[in-house]
Order: sequence, then structure tokens, then C-alpha cells
Amino acid sequence: MDFAGPDARELATDMSDSLWQAVKKSISDNTRYHLRDYRLARLSGGNINQAWHLSDREKQYFVKTNRGDLLYMFEAERAGLEEIHQSQAIRVPEVIGCGAVANHSFIVMEFLEIGGIADDSLLAHQLASMHRCTRDQFGFHIDNTIGSTAQINTNDESWVEFWRTQRLGFQLDLAVKNRLDREMIARGEALSEVVAQFFSSYRPVASLLHGDLWSGNWGADNGGNPIIFDPACYYGDHEADLAMMELFGQPGRRFFDAYDEVFSIDAGYTTRRDLYNLYHILNHANLFGGHYSSSARNLIDKLLAAV
Ligand code: ADP
Repeated sequence: MDFAGPDARELATDMSDSLWQAVKKSISDNTRYHLRDYRLARLSGGNINQAWHLSDREKQYFVKTNRGDLLYMFEAERAGLEEIHQSQAIRVPEVIGCGAVANHSFIVMEFLEIGGIADDSLLAHQLASMHRCTRDQFGFHIDNTIGSTAQINTNDESWVEFWRTQRLGFQLDLAVKNRLDREMIARGEALSEVVAQFFSSYRPVASLLHGDLWSGNWGADNGGNPIIFDPACYYGDHEADLAMMELFGQPGRRFFDAYDEVFSIDAGYTTRRDLYNLYHILNHANLFGGHYSSSARNLIDKLLAAV
């Protein structure tokens, strides 16, 4: 973690005073701690928001800020972090509050030193325990975002329907709006018709998922204890989290063996891994275009050939 910012006084003139007054008030309303002579340092690392280290002599906090109309993103992040926290399976930062003032929105949480290397077995066991928190319906009580794209989480008893409409279908509709490759979209729609075939001998349960588990969203404290953050939570097939860990990252050698000890991984996972990662590739195609559209097309063709 770099403390990339200039000194506190310089930043205070950059940023709206009312924003930091609101952050201070959120901390004192929610924890009864009154920050004194605080320092602010801009942190590098976030993709979507501005990240800050806020501290005084006694306490330190992690704050993310963005435009005022994007408060819903922080509210959804808060809901996800709280859901994972309640699972007691794996560490997430504790949220203190979020809010909006003038043209700014913010979320403030405990500051965690995320500088260590996660112990593979511990990470696997803790994630599998989180995934063992299940409920009846797929979805979540709040919509959230994946990158900056909306992610719809309307409850559904059928995983196939949920994934087909709210994940694959939603991204294909966006691809139409964004005028991506028509042939890719047509092939994607053909895939949508046969999604059920990937589940002919496998019935997923609705597990609590992080939802955006690329390598930039998990780490560890200096003792190797895993920490996950920046979730896009919903209840879904646990394989979706595992797939994304492999798409943008490489969990260590012992990870899958250890995971399997707590939550067994079905033999068909490697085929469905492509199906689940197609969602993220399509999202990247919608956000960034470029080669992601042809990657999506290749993945769709591979999946169509597998049914
Ligand atoms: P964004 O929403 O912009 O993608 P992240 O939530 O991923 O931002 O946070 C940006 C970076 O800040 C992360 O890569 C991580 O290293 C660090 N970070 C996240 N949460 C905390 C925290 N509670 N305490 C300290 N550092 C954090």
C-alpha cells in the first residue's frame, strides 16, 4: 500500500471541507470517537473510487470517495461487507458508515494493513466456510455493481434462470446497446438457450459469494490471515467465486485441495468455470471493448462445443 498523497494540508484545499466534516460526523455518530487534528493521505490501488487513509494520533480509517450520485454503490458495498462479516467465516473490513454530501459520496471503514501473503489452506478453508452459508433463493436483497456495471440480484429459486437472465442475458443486452460484435451476441443468445444442459447432473446451492474475487480483492495481514474486500455479493453457485479466482489470478497449489476438504468441488466444475467467467469477460467487453469481445466469442464457441 503506497501513501501516495501530498501532505494533509495540501489535500484539504483540494477536497471539499464538507465531505470530510461528513466523514468525521459519520465516525463520531457510529463509534462515538471524535477525530482530532486528522491527517489524510491519498492511497493508490483502487479502480473505481478514490481511496484515502484518514488518521489522527490514535485511530486510522480507510475511506473511499466518489461522486455524490454514486452513493448507492457504497451502500451496496456496505451490505455485502456486512453479510460476509456476519458469516464469521473470513475477515472483511468492518464498515463504520457511508453517506453523501454536496457532490461527494463516501464509505468509511476500519483500516487494515493488507501487506501479507495469504496462507493458501487458510484462505481455502475460510472461503469454503463462507460458501457454506446458504439460503433458499439465489440473488441478494440489494442490487450492486460489478466494476462500474450494474449487477441485478432479484431473488430466484432457479439458479439456471438466475444466471441465464441476470448474468448472461443482462450482459448480452448491454452488448447490444454498446454495439459489440453481432455474431458474438447471436452466439451468446444461442448459448443462453442451452445453459440448462451444464446443470443436468449438478444442482448448485445458493451460497454466499464475494462476487468479484479477482486477485486485487483478496490479500492478507502480515501474519498471513486472509482478508477479502470490495465485494459484489449475492447468493449463487460457489463455483462462480472459484472460477473468477482463476480468471484474474492464480490461487496457490494447495488451495483447491484444501477447499475441497470443506466444500467438495463437483467434477463438472472445469466446464462450468468457462460459463461463469464468460460473465466477467462480457462485462470487460462492455466496459473496455477491445480484445475482450473476441475473447468472449471464443469462450462462447468453446462452451457451445461442450454441450
Ligand atoms: P475500488 O472500489 O476503487 O476498486 P478497493 O476497495 O479495491 O477500491 O480498495 C483499493 C485498495 O485499497 C485495495 O486494493 C486494497 O489494497 C486497499 N484496501 C481496501 N480496503 C482496505 C481497508 N479496509 N484498509 C486498508 N486498505 C484497504
